[in-house]
Amino acid sequence: MRVGTIRREGRHVGGVLAPKGQTATLLASTDERDPLLALLRDPRGLTAAVESAVTDTSVDVGPDDLAAPIRRPGKVIAIGLNYVKHTAETGLAAPDRPLTFAKYPSSVVGPFAEIRVPSHITQHVDYEGELAIVIGRDCRPDGTASLADVAGYCVANDVSARDVQFGDGQWTRAKSFDTFTPLGPWLVTPDEVPDLAVARISTAVNGDLRQDDTIKSMAFDIAAILAFVSDGITLEAGDVILTGTPSGAGGFLDPPRYLADGDTVEVSIEGLGSIRNVVRIPPEASPFDE
Ligand code: MG
Repeated sequence: MRVGTIRREGRHVGGVLAPKGQTATLLASTDERDPLLALLRDPRGLTAAVESAVTDTSVDVGPDDLAAPIRRPGKVIAIGLNYVKHTAETGLAAPDRPLTFAKYPSSVVGPFAEIRVPSHITQHVDYEGELAIVIGRDCRPDGTASLADVAGYCVANDVSARDVQFGDGQWTRAKSFDTFTPLGPWLVTPDEVPDLAVARISTAVNGDLRQDDTIKSMAFDIAAILAFVSDGITLEAGDVILTGTPSGAGGFLDPPRYLADGDTVEVSIEGLGSIRNVVRIPPEASPFDE
């Protein structure tokens, strides 16, 4: 099952997407802001919640109609340096346990939204194509979260301001500017992607392939990440975990190739789909001043 968040007449509604995502069957909703989050919080589980919410209304869906599947997750946990070749290109030491950091939930935007760069703060903005895990139920904070607690998977871009990241000496701000977490295009339930471990993950900038690897190249796999991050921390339904990026991020190329105004970044994962975001970099001004 593929479930997405669809903009419709000024509000947001959940929908079950047809295989290619061009049509959706709409879901009745009690939450016009974050309909899938409400469904994920249903104690019966996502599948039962969707079955009881399904309507007989089917609509056409274009890229501009899709919002992030979870618009404001309770938290976004990210894993750094989780692909061996990416760790090598950064010159940093390989972590002996999952390296975790936070991205603020307000950084989440839709799968085809603009990445709007605060150019008065950063000149070195980079992409990181990543697999995102969406948690399907509240977990006990005892390190036992497992694949059974996963509602589904999405594609994400962990957009990163490299100059801020290394200037701050701390990653959270650099990766949390508004629009720095494109997510989507929809949530795909685990039964639809039984071969996710061998799925290809790739990132292209203006059609130029920059990142190309498979999910199984992760140093810590999905099960290991879930166990680690749930030890002492309550994972809640709708929380999102980004699982790290393969080699080929622009800031670590020689010479570095940062994103420029007008660039189009497309991140794809086999079985999950693609997200595509245009970069907007106004000259030395906050893009949010408009
Ligand atoms: Mg990352």
